[in-house]
Amino acid sequence: MKFIPGFEPDPSADGKSCLVFTEKERALVVNPSGNPVHDHRVLKDLLRTEQREDEIHLGTLEGKNLSAFSLKGREELPEGLEWTDFIAVYRDTGHTDQYPLSRGKQLLEWNRTHRFCGACGTETLLSDSENARRCPDCGELWFPVIAPAIITRITRGDEILLAHNANFPEGLYSHIAGFADPGESLEQTIRREVREEVGLEVENIRFFGSQSWPMPHSLMMGFTAECTDPLAQPVPDGVEIHDARWFTKDSLPSIPSTGSIAGRMLIDYIGKGE
Ligand SMILES: [Zn+2]
Repeated sequence: MKFIPGFEPDPSADGKSCLVFTEKERALVVNPSGNPVHDHRVLKDLLRTEQREDEIHLGTLEGKNLSAFSLKGREELPEGLEWTDFIAVYRDTGHTDQYPLSRGKQLLEWNRTHRFCGACGTETLLSDSENARRCPDCGELWFPVIAPAIITRITRGDEILLAHNANFPEGLYSHIAGFADPGESLEQTIRREVREEVGLEVENIRFFGSQSWPMPHSLMMGFTAECTDPLAQPVPDGVEIHDARWFTKDSLPSIPSTGSIAGRMLIDYIGKGE
């Protein structure tokens, strides 16, 4: 899939595609990867009749201009269309094609939550030259928010540490993750999160890869790290982490899908040494 981000529509593009979102966690995804998900005739009627003040151009997708807008508070859709759970669509899309979905979701969310200046309370205006909202009174500029977060695959020899988070479905285990605090380097975030959540010390921290995670605006940065103490046992904090254990490749519990960086890091671990 070829997605080129852009600020203004390309007049030479071959038509237009849209991504449609509600304000929360649901999406109507229209032709995000060249394959129509919904009946286009019904959709065209809907798009003709909708108010679209918040439409945002995202770039070009497969040579077509791609934009995103929300159906504010709308619950009912015409026959033939249905809402889809955004997180499920995002995971199924696969990490190489998630870019336009994430960009659309985050820019709309930023627009929705920055309508007024955080410094003086005046209504902000969209910039006509970049993705920014400007305060006409005090001049403050408000850019889209991105929250850096780490996820760390911890190993000890052949073993891997996996934890069950309080928010996970029953039986699912994954890596230790958390948001960077102000002032921290990512290495400091990793050491703090691992210590706080499971009481372990780690070293040999290496970058693995990253993934945009628009729920609502995280940038997940994946790392690998090692625990060198052969006797250290994880102690779950009992709040965020309910259980944490050392596993081996042939004793793995239920793990995340490869639509997330957590799943990709696990598949990479399983493939090692074979
Ligand atoms: Zn202001």
